[in-house]
Amino acid sequence: QEDIFKNVVSHAKEYGFIFPSSEVYDGLSAVYDYAQNGVELKKNIREYWWKSMVQMNDNIVGLDAAILMHPTTWKASGHVDAFNDPLIDNKDSKKRYRADVLVEDFAEKINQKAQKEIEKARARFGDAFNEEEFVTTNARVVEYLSKYKEILSRLAKGMTDDLQDVKALIDELEIADPETGSKNWTDVKQFNLMFGTKLGASADSAMDLYLRPETAQGIFVNFLNVQKSGRMKVPFGIAQTGKAFRNEIVARQFIFRMREFEQMEMQFFVRPGEEMQWYHHWKEARLKWHLSLGLGKENYRFHDHEKLAHYANAAADIEFNFPFGFKELEGIHSRTDFDLKAHEQYSGRKLQYFDPELNENYVPYVVETSVGLDRMFLAVFATSLQEEVLEDGSTRTVLKLPAVLAPTKAAVLPLVKKDGLPDIAKKIIEDLKWDFNVAYDEKDAVGRRYRRQDALGTPFCITVDHQTIEDETVTIRHRDTMKQDRVKISELKDIIENEVSM
Ligand code: ATP
Repeated sequence: QEDIFKNVVSHAKEYGFIFPSSEVYDGLSAVYDYAQNGVELKKNIREYWWKSMVQMNDNIVGLDAAILMHPTTWKASGHVDAFNDPLIDNKDSKKRYRADVLVEDFAEKINQKAQKEIEKARARFGDAFNEEEFVTTNARVVEYLSKYKEILSRLAKGMTDDLQDVKALIDELEIADPETGSKNWTDVKQFNLMFGTKLGASADSAMDLYLRPETAQGIFVNFLNVQKSGRMKVPFGIAQTGKAFRNEIVARQFIFRMREFEQMEMQFFVRPGEEMQWYHHWKEARLKWHLSLGLGKENYRFHDHEKLAHYANAAADIEFNFPFGFKELEGIHSRTDFDLKAHEQYSGRKLQYFDPELNENYVPYVVETSVGLDRMFLAVFATSLQEEVLEDGSTRTVLKLPAVLAPTKAAVLPLVKKDGLPDIAKKIIEDLKWDFNVAYDEKDAVGRRYRRQDALGTPFCITVDHQTIEDETVTIRHRDTMKQDRVKISELKDIIENEVSM
């Protein structure tokens, strides 16, 4: 699994999808740049989301609020007081960890030990091995697994909200610094994840601001502006994509957890009392959206939250099977009227909706869907990257991206660099480029060019050869099957369109 993940990171760099930020200065931790192909894939994911949310729903409209917001926003939302992670320092190594992650990792290690014992026994007993019996009778495995479950349940119940509890658990389990083995820990402190900045030049008039840690608040403070100017009727939604910033303590796993990332969020405003029905509606609708990409049903699962954030009365994650296991990809939260009421309180303005059918004013309830664009990118990219063993025993690396998301839809390749073939190829490109991203490549043998396009995820390769001069046909090669068909140049547009349209 670790190897798969390393492959993902190096493929992303080698083929121009993702580079570490400011790499000439050795990079900036957990900040990344999207390169020539990455920016296209990312844009296509964003558009795929936007189309399904805004274009396909006549009661959802878009918004692009500013990253900088009035600082009171974050007081009202609870981020100033509560957007914290528990942090612990090791006194000897001076290394800093997220206390809850330290516990989680420790639990995972215990689980792995249990699994190893199970595998060893399976190898020893062969067909006679009864796993169910083994895990209930082998003393060591019973101990590991019960400890593992105990820790997980304590974490799920929000034990990490109480700093003393989490410190007590770290001591009780005798958790060591994973890098140095030292068990000499400080107390656990709260660490606020918001990035601060200043607005204005002079020292006395400058205003302390935050870079937004989520896009949602830009939607809430504009709720009434949009409702009135768009004459929207509850239930309705506001969708937004944009950058968010979090000063994450443990930043690892590539673009899974970044300090600067992009969210795609939709806030759906409903009548109080109807939020549960919409919550279930959006849970299902969002899972369906994910499944429509064809990455495999088995790669998704719901995780319903036992412990709820201060603003929620129901919450679930859609988890995805990343190269490092099932982790949160999207959150669906029933946020009640917490945010709008808080902004009413802090601003002194009414944020109420007049419901003409009920003939009454109320603060709507909100159901939110929130997915990380970069996490979506990682899910799509990592799952699509495959090594295939071909019939002749050789291997090929192919990025089986959903065609609708592929950065380049077709590459046009003249078989040789002479006899007028390049000119015909360029003419085909002139025609197709109004509708699709198309690439031209004439370097190297055609087989190598095919492999390069496979690695970039290009669904089609169009090859111009000598027969083209005679009858205006070309070959079109399909990335996944490697099958080639001979077709008329005039048919190309429809063939591609058919495969890559949303
Ligand atoms: P996590 O528990 O993984 O930190 P979260 O519960 O804090 O995530 P939310 O606040 O619900 O996440 O944010 C909504 C979505 O934004 C997440 O489902 C995830 O896809 C994305 N996201 C959150 N933090 C990051 C990050 N640091 N880097 C990339 N994407 C992120």
